[in-house]
Amino acid sequence: MKVIGIHVGILILMTMMISCKGENSDSIVKRERVSIPKFESDSAYNHIVKQIAFGKRYMNTPEHEQCKDWLVSKLEEQDFKVVEQSFSSKAYTGTMLNGTNVIGSINPKMKDRVLLCAHYDTRHIADKDTLDTDRPIDGADDGASGVAVLLEIARLLNEYPIHIGIDIIFFDAEDYGSDQKGQDYTWGLGSQYWAKHPHDNKYDAQYGILLDMVGAEGATFRKEGFSMQSAQVTVDQIWGLASRMGKQKYFVDERIGYVTDDHRFIIEKANIPMVDIINVQENGSFGDYHHKHDDNIDIISKATLGAVGQVVTAYIYNEANGDNEVDVKY
Ligand SMILES: [Zn+2]
Repeated sequence: MKVIGIHVGILILMTMMISCKGENSDSIVKRERVSIPKFESDSAYNHIVKQIAFGKRYMNTPEHEQCKDWLVSKLEEQDFKVVEQSFSSKAYTGTMLNGTNVIGSINPKMKDRVLLCAHYDTRHIADKDTLDTDRPIDGADDGASGVAVLLEIARLLNEYPIHIGIDIIFFDAEDYGSDQKGQDYTWGLGSQYWAKHPHDNKYDAQYGILLDMVGAEGATFRKEGFSMQSAQVTVDQIWGLASRMGKQKYFVDERIGYVTDDHRFIIEKANIPMVDIINVQENGSFGDYHHKHDDNIDIISKATLGAVGQVVTAYIYNEANGDNEVDVKY
């Protein structure tokens, strides 16, 4: 591609930034190594079942509101400090959407921070289906899976404390967008709001990971365009770690094009390097179930949830320990 020179520049700059941060913190206190905990895929699976049980969680519905309250309680259960950030945004239909980003933090005072995020709202229509295209979908994968993996990681972070700050953000109003040309900014309304109005006005993170559609049987994750542009070092490290963990069937070492998802707006507006882990198939499309009624519990695989959950968990703990080359036994 024509931007190879720029990529190399970013790579060198980011390597320098990471090593500087590591040296600073290590020179003050030698960090005690925290073993990488085991990610329980059963637990993540049950978090998907629970979300679907609320009903269709699309914008401006009581089911969506109930799911939001549950997310707040789940993060508080794991000793996260939680902020509910309300906003109103106009949808492409002209409807005003009343959204709430749910932001949970551990070690809120620590300077070294990592951002983990997913969207919890689900699509209001099945616009890629052939039947009932104006009806909402379950969003088992598109919405619930990313949230479910992060809730299990929240449990691990509480049980096996880590020496950095972590923020888990469940973004709202990601999936009420329009597929029409030139309508990119009708997606990710919650992340766009947060990126312009972060819950802490001095907020910064070393890097962020977005999980979207991470639970389907046969899912594959490839190196996405905006992620490579903003966080190539992190992308390569995550995919490299996944390969050493024997999970290269899921984390395929291939470049794909640019996906408009929450991470794009955080990169553009909050200037945080972001990695999107999202199911994109070999032909460059999302899964067959995408924005259809098929996006239900039947397509969810515990093996996929486990692969993504364990790789992300291992990466975060390794990075926090300052040893991203360590292999993982799970
Ligand atoms: Zn979607």
